[in-house]
Amino acid sequence: MTADEAKQKLIDAGIVLEAQGLGDFTRGHVTIRDPNDPGKFFMKPHSFGLDEMTMENIVTCDLEGEKLAGGGPRHSEVYIHSEIFKVRPDINSVIHAHPTHALALSATGRPLRAFSQGGAVFADGIGDYRDTIDLIRSKEMGAGVAKSLGSYKATFLKNHGVAVAGRTLEECVILTLMLENACQIQLLAEATGETAPEFPRDDVMKLHDKISRPEQHTINFDYMVRKSRRQLGL
Ligand SMILES: [Zn+2]
Repeated sequence: MTADEAKQKLIDAGIVLEAQGLGDFTRGHVTIRDPNDPGKFFMKPHSFGLDEMTMENIVTCDLEGEKLAGGGPRHSEVYIHSEIFKVRPDINSVIHAHPTHALALSATGRPLRAFSQGGAVFADGIGDYRDTIDLIRSKEMGAGVAKSLGSYKATFLKNHGVAVAGRTLEECVILTLMLENACQIQLLAEATGETAPEFPRDDVMKLHDKISRPEQHTINFDYMVRKSRRQLGL
């Protein structure tokens, strides 16, 4: 993958996230590690919607969060991304968003449960960052988010949003959509009152392994790009 191909994927990721309701004004951001230099990453610029990225306005940053290049301004919460990339060499894409249902579930303090396939994807665990509702505007706070993420795929930022980490950008986008859907289903089920017991842990983990394969994420991401471009008339 070239740097330009990585930037085009970033543009597509933003289109999918916005079209699927994961935008929050111009807030929220997505990054992809530079395929030719693991010490750098490309990021959505501040002041633009997720669906408004261009090859020109995308920002390049280093792992200290410093802006190196790009036409757009840098988000102050860059440290969510830089600190995760620093401690997770297996991760090549990070999304920070404020999805309604994930936020609502994190506000309850209840754990995410395997009430759906999306819930099963996160059955190996999910982080829970509870230090502050404030913006993550320092390396120390970013490191706190990365610590709460640990070796998981995602972490809740209580009353703020989520940070999701993918081995690929495709995986990161699909995991973000699945997490929001899983939280919506769980809130609906729990709002009715009693819920039936979950399936045994072994069954859930078998499903987890089946639906966590990278090639499935790529197929679903490519479809979501086509669908989202149609939705937004692009
Ligand atoms: Zn935020």
